[in-house]
Amino acid sequence: MDRFDTARDAAFALRPDEPVYCFRPEVLVADANQFRQAFPGKTAYAVKTNGERLVLEVLAKAGMNCFDVASPAEFAAVRAVAPKAELLYMHPVKAQSDIRLALETYRIRSLALDHEDEVAKILKIVRGLDLDPEEITLFVRIAVRGHAAYELSKKFGATPAHAVELVRRIAHIGFKVGLCFHVGSQVEDTDTYERALASAAWVRARAGVEIAALDIGGGFPAAYGADPRRAQPPAPDTTALIEEVVHEAKEWGFADLSLVAEPGRVIVARSFSLIVRVLLRKGRRLYINDGIWASLSDSWTGRITLPARLLPDPARRRRTGDKSKIVPFKVCGATCDSVDILSRPFFLPETVDTGDWIEIGNIGAYSLSLRTRFNGFYPDTFVEVATIFEAAGPAESSAALETMAD
Ligand SMILES: *Cc1c(COP(=O)(O)O)cnc(C)c1O
Repeated sequence: MDRFDTARDAAFALRPDEPVYCFRPEVLVADANQFRQAFPGKTAYAVKTNGERLVLEVLAKAGMNCFDVASPAEFAAVRAVAPKAELLYMHPVKAQSDIRLALETYRIRSLALDHEDEVAKILKIVRGLDLDPEEITLFVRIAVRGHAAYELSKKFGATPAHAVELVRRIAHIGFKVGLCFHVGSQVEDTDTYERALASAAWVRARAGVEIAALDIGGGFPAAYGADPRRAQPPAPDTTALIEEVVHEAKEWGFADLSLVAEPGRVIVARSFSLIVRVLLRKGRRLYINDGIWASLSDSWTGRITLPARLLPDPARRRRTGDKSKIVPFKVCGATCDSVDILSRPFFLPETVDTGDWIEIGNIGAYSLSLRTRFNGFYPDTFVEVATIFEAAGPAESSAALETMAD
């Protein structure tokens, strides 16, 4: 893979017409280490966030030895680069054949569920393989309500009363019992975790059986951009957030349990930026070569303002407008689909024009893992970049108010 000092160097050297992912392995290692140092329990990287081989390889080399996986393809992807890593199969609804594969071939011993029929499916295979239930921890997923860019509790989780029944049932069979929740993604306040911890404490007290572990899921936020015309939100402080959640877990009486977390976004977001090209400027609209069907669907559904930096094409001689004036541009994606328009604008200098490149920062999470081949566009070009996104100059969408001309 080609390595450049900055994304600007990569854009000007390659002059790419297709989107280019700029990978920063050093940033990935730093962010993974930061999380693991701040969190006193077991850190399981959530593979769905970004399951590229190069990401998993770097994480494994950095000592990540536990992964949250949801499908046979994810089991295989992790084992290919980290044969000894522990896998946690935290999808609450699983195919019978996948449960068998997990237990038999991959020797997975931690699984999540939120319904008694899932217990029956797992038990059938445990009996068929003649395994001791005592070797297996079943995590009962508790539904939580909260405030995330993505709400996932509408889909998964048992109500606390139902969770109590499930906990008793699986303890009675002889499985080890865990509790888990996942508050959603890009969760910026700790209240959501606190509500989930309160539910877990209630379930534990009611169930009256031994609980072996508590898995607090993922959801920790990454830093993105912001509308420069508004007050700037403070960048999330990962270490402080983790410390607070762990502190609350202790307050709710979980100090004696082994803790697990399943971070995805917070570990991988900063390790990629993306160079896109402006295919056409039409007034205050930019048509770019990526979009919601490729790398940018997460920002679309999550209504995230992406940090964007203009890399003006040096070959363009004439420009109109004031380059110190930052204005919002509506961003249209590469496909012919009319919904392929980002839900938030890019804030860029007024001078941006056809042929320029834009570097989108902190795009490592839910970007390339969600790209499709729709309409024949499939970004798949990678370079390595040494300089962190923030260090290569201001991103206009997170720039301070003083840079605004009006
Ligand atoms: C997606 C997911 C995660 C990772 O969430 P992030 O917000 O990326 O940290 C963790 N656990 C479960 C169960 C998930 O579905």
